[in-house]
Amino acid sequence: MDAEHILLCDRRHLWHPYASLRNPPPVFAAARAHGMAIELADGTELLDGIANWWSAAHGHGNPEITAAMRRQAEKMPHVMFGGFTHEPAAALAERLAEFLPGGMANVFLADSGSIAVEVAAKMAVQYQTAKGRPGRTRLLALKGGYHGDTAGAMALSDPDGMHTLFRGLMPHHFFAEKPRSPFGGGWIEGDAASAAEILDRHDGEIAGVFCEPVFQAANAMWFYHPQYLRELRTLCSARDIPLVFDEIAAGFYRTGTLWAHDRSGIRPDIMCIGKALSGGHVTLGATAASDAVADAISAGRPAAFMHGPTYMANPIACAAAEASLSLFAKGGTAAKVAAIESAFKASIARSGAGKLENVRATRVLGAVAVLEVEALPSQKDIARTILETGVWLRPFGNWIYSIPPLIATAADIDRIVEAMTALAALPPAPPPADPGFHE
Ligand SMILES: *Cc1c(COP(=O)(O)O)cnc(C)c1O
Repeated sequence: MDAEHILLCDRRHLWHPYASLRNPPPVFAAARAHGMAIELADGTELLDGIANWWSAAHGHGNPEITAAMRRQAEKMPHVMFGGFTHEPAAALAERLAEFLPGGMANVFLADSGSIAVEVAAKMAVQYQTAKGRPGRTRLLALKGGYHGDTAGAMALSDPDGMHTLFRGLMPHHFFAEKPRSPFGGGWIEGDAASAAEILDRHDGEIAGVFCEPVFQAANAMWFYHPQYLRELRTLCSARDIPLVFDEIAAGFYRTGTLWAHDRSGIRPDIMCIGKALSGGHVTLGATAASDAVADAISAGRPAAFMHGPTYMANPIACAAAEASLSLFAKGGTAAKVAAIESAFKASIARSGAGKLENVRATRVLGAVAVLEVEALPSQKDIARTILETGVWLRPFGNWIYSIPPLIATAADIDRIVEAMTALAALPPAPPPADPGFHE
């Protein structure tokens, strides 16, 4: 198919994420991807400033991941995980255990990040039932959080964020105030008081506490103080409530340490991972439970964990993830992220982006850079700027941000920051008639 035909069929039939079918925002026809680049059907190359929605940590089309997937596809693309196991799942589990905190190598392989969150929520509830507290079926999460797009995950995401439309469809949970203490700044006394107060008031109802540690991504683009996690740890331990860290965006060195919560010195009881897990090649998530949670669920009634999707532990996805983790296991990623962080800071300072009228704040942590703006330019202006600068970015909400592949060089970062600055300098679009775009 030529580019025109691809776009025509797409336009006729296909919904895109957070887009209208009949009046869609511009899309580009991608033909190939390698390293930092996404190549369009007409030969144009775009430098990927957001790593395939934050997943392509080793760059696009990494040859080792691709080869592992090809080898597995030829042997056995899939076998059901009910009643069978296989080498790719076993090898992934063994490898993942090297990365997980001690005592947490009890892994449920999920189809995506959102499903890893659904699984974590079920684990929290089954844990409480097993402990003889069947009344604990609701959850506490944070304002400004994001945990995915399936109903259970939406129900844990910021109640005033992108999912308000579905409030009637979703279970009702509790939300603590968004942490105000900034990462790298002072701890604001009482910042966790809202969480404490809700846990006190609804003692007996709450099964688990969810948050994105340190980095609230898709609903806030905000870095907060690790002391907040220590406070949550104390509150949860005192009540025997599993603390769940959603590391789907932040895990695998994105914010500078292997896990974002490594900054806090405490550990969760349940952890969700995804995105960079499979290196941006194929969908896969995982939920890791502590020994205490796994033991309790296994001793409860039913003495089984009640979840099991058709394509669970897909061998091709497991092979991709094992290859992705092998690349991380070679070491050096933290140093790469530190170099990217310095490059972002220097480049943003040079660009003068922080002085633009439209820019409220600039933030950098690890390989995440954010320009918080008063308002975004129009979709048309954004698409034009992407082609002019040759840098792929996808601003949303009030944020022009970059979450690049971790192979980005200082020169790549300069180009990305130039493009971010160009976007921030464009005239803001009039407020949209409909509530705007996601990620
Ligand atoms: C992306 C994301 C999810 C959802 O993952 P999907 O693979 O898109 O379902 C969940 N939590 C966080 C923190 C995320 O960034």
